Amino acid sequence: MEKGALLYEGKAKKVFATDEAEYYWVDYKDDATAFNGEKKGQILDKGMVNNQLSALFFREMEKAGVPTHFVELLGERQMLVRRLRMIPLEVVVRNVVAGSLAQRVGTEEGYRLPQAVVELYYKDDALGDPLVNESHIQAMGWAGAATVKRIQEMALAVNRVLSGIMDKAGIELVDFKLEFGFAGDTILLGDEISPDTCRFWDKETREKLDKDRFRRDLGQVEEAYLEVYRRVKEVLPQ
Ligand code: UDP
Repeated sequence: MEKGALLYEGKAKKVFATDEAEYYWVDYKDDATAFNGEKKGQILDKGMVNNQLSALFFREMEKAGVPTHFVELLGERQMLVRRLRMIPLEVVVRNVVAGSLAQRVGTEEGYRLPQAVVELYYKDDALGDPLVNESHIQAMGWAGAATVKRIQEMALAVNRVLSGIMDKAGIELVDFKLEFGFAGDTILLGDEISPDTCRFWDKETREKLDKDRFRRDLGQVEEAYLEVYRRVKEVLPQ
């Protein structure tokens, strides 16, 4: 597979064309941003950890019947993915109150919800990714009703599989964000699944093992990413 032109550079990844129109080459970067790009930094080895962890998780999702854009690893920080027409939504699933939900509902971080909560955000940096509902999504033409239903079901399936893996790794899956897109008529899970896009807490101590260490200047950021990678590799032998 030949690496082609740079098509898009995001906050955490670069996307390149390949010699096949249906496939993209993704490079994971060490760059880290938070608060809609206001806070910038680098997390050493983040690109490697997020690429490798995403690959491990995507394979588990495929095994469990959740189709993803992942094709194969191309290197330590590189993966080959299917080209998608992205749905402009961020789908957040929550098992425990944290982050923006703690503020919205006035409940302290750490309250375990009796059922998972699924939220939809309109993906638009200029607007700060606002929380929206299905009525907004349909009225604005961002996605149809059947698409929203499907991505909500897929997100809950990811929650079941990922919660199980992380539990074995001694980690509580607090919440996470997913993105989806179309390959032809089929909806695939896209983007990444990593400590950048999930909240992971140690099951015993509830120590944060994710990007909140960077967002909140808690220190030991690199160590936390590497610790999650080490524990997940241990429970998902290749
Ligand atoms: N998240 C993300 N990208 C975003 C916003 C949120 O990956 O642009 C993830 C975040 O890491 C967390 C979950 O989605 O695991 C819920 O985030 P929340 O809405 O609480 O926002 P935050 O507190 O991170 O601003």
